[in-house]
Amino acid sequence: MTTSRPSAVVASVDFARAGVQHGHLRLPYSRDESAWGSVMIPIAVIGSGDGPTALLTGGNHGDEYEGPVALFDLARSLSAADVSGRVIILPAMNYPAFRAGTRTSPIDRGNLNRCFPGRPDGSITEKIADYVTRALLPLADIVLDFHSGGRTLDFLPYAAAHALPDKEQQRRCFAAVAAFAAPYSMKMIEIDAVGMYDTTAEQMGKVFLTTELRGGGTATAQSVRIAKTGVRNVLKHAGILRGVPQAGPSRWLDMPSDDCFGFAAQDGLVEPLKDLGERVASGECLARIHPLTQTGAAPFEHRAAIDGVLAARHFPGIVTVGDCLTVVAVAAAGD
Ligand code: CA
Repeated sequence: MTTSRPSAVVASVDFARAGVQHGHLRLPYSRDESAWGSVMIPIAVIGSGDGPTALLTGGNHGDEYEGPVALFDLARSLSAADVSGRVIILPAMNYPAFRAGTRTSPIDRGNLNRCFPGRPDGSITEKIADYVTRALLPLADIVLDFHSGGRTLDFLPYAAAHALPDKEQQRRCFAAVAAFAAPYSMKMIEIDAVGMYDTTAEQMGKVFLTTELRGGGTATAQSVRIAKTGVRNVLKHAGILRGVPQAGPSRWLDMPSDDCFGFAAQDGLVEPLKDLGERVASGECLARIHPLTQTGAAPFEHRAAIDGVLAARHFPGIVTVGDCLTVVAVAAAGD
């Protein structure tokens, strides 16, 4: 953080109070349509007695829906009597992006998950990140941030955590991933972890897990079921809700190196040759990229760099050079 300036965000909820509170984080946003206006980010706090605090977030990217659906539902259905400790729920963390249905904010084009730890004197998106970093993360013992592929990617449904330098923290993160019990569980690496919520929460020593639950700018009945079951499983695992997680079979996958990411080498029309979850071999063609401007030209053959299963793919049918076209993950050792 570049300054110790206080956040301009005002919470209408009292984090120390027991009971169920539905309110807003009000962030001043002065603009042509509303001189003294605000961004109003929905927040719920459900607290009762002693116990850990879970911070549950969706809508970090505004075009990913399993998190918002599961978290608006959870906020509506949890009662204080259900909870030992505290649950803080932000179903749509980058609220302007969520309302626009876009990955980034329509106000400043801010990608919230590249803005952390944020700035109190920055853009609207940087101010949201700063408030989460300085006001919410310090309250949390366990943090679950929902993602999906958004409009441009589609994933096998998985919960994930990262390899961490603190192996005890890493063990607790992967125990939470196992408790979520998505159809797949991922040891995840990032293309570039700078500015991510994940990185900030992990550096603060939190138990942090995330998800990728399908994508394409929508949700499915199955992906929503996974999200709704997973979040309750995590709360049971943390001891905040009673009961034991409903553990279904989960296949553990690993992203062993940057070789798992495949980027489009040219613009074109995508012809998929593999679907999500299919086994692939190193050197195998995963998709053809057909030229857009003429007939008669040979397609580019986009090949796998490693053996594994197809874990993610570009969603729209046209790619631009540099787009992430495929992700191949490998079955984790022992699975
Ligand atoms: Ca995302």
